[in-house]
This record gives sequence, C-alpha cells and structure tokens, in this order.
Amino acid sequence: MIKITRSVTLQTDKHSCPATCVLEQYDVGDAAKLGLKVLGIIWLITGVTVFIPLIHFISVPLGILVGPVIALVMFYERKRKLSLTPDNTPCPDCQHPLQFEFDHINKPLSVACTQCHAIVRIMLPSHGS
Ligand SMILES: [Zn+2]
Repeated sequence: MIKITRSVTLQTDKHSCPATCVLEQYDVGDAAKLGLKVLGIIWLITGVTVFIPLIHFISVPLGILVGPVIALVMFYERKRKLSLTPDNTPCPDCQHPLQFEFDHINKPLSVACTQCHAIVRIMLPSHGS
C-alpha cells in the first residue's frame, strides 16, 4: 500500500483553509495478492465439492469458470481503490477535527462537520501539483 500525505483546501460557505489528508492506494502487487487469494479460496471450495454427489456436476464447472472472473473483478476493484482520510484535519468553521473516508475520489468531495454541521468541501489540488 502506498501512503501519500496530500495538501488539500477545505471550504465552507464562510471560510476556507489549507489542510492535509492521507491518500492511500494499493499497488499492483497488493491487488494481485488479493485476486489470487480469492481465486485460491474459490478453487479450494470447488475442489471440496468434487466429492459431493450431484452437486459437483454444477459446482466444478461453475467454480472453474466463475473463479477467475471474480478474482479479476477483485483485482481491478482493489487496484482502482484510492482512499482519502483526514490527517488531523480541522473544520474551517469550528476547528473540530473532521472524520471521513472516501474510497473513490473521482467526484466532488464533501463532508458534514459533526460539531457545527457545516458542509465542508474538500478541494484536491489539480494533477501535477
Ligand atoms: Zn465544524
């Protein structure tokens, strides 16, 4: 897992301030490990069902065909995952520490402060900065 501390701008209707957040991203190796682990579990279950009469006519072909598909989906989902968590990040209005976690950060991010209920927009710097 790759952890990067990024500076962001927090903005409410009244104030805005700079802050830092922690950006976490899984590397390809971590995502591949998860995919292979899922594939191993599915094929292990498939292997056990070989000894169950009648069930094995369905479970074995299904496990062999569907296992790699599920493993690939898990791999790409994990590789795509990019989480953003606060790093002692205060609300611009009341200075109460914000609590949030975003798994996919490809849309405008906002969070409500638990103390003053202000909507805090989290502005990421544009790429390259
Ligand atoms: Zn607040």
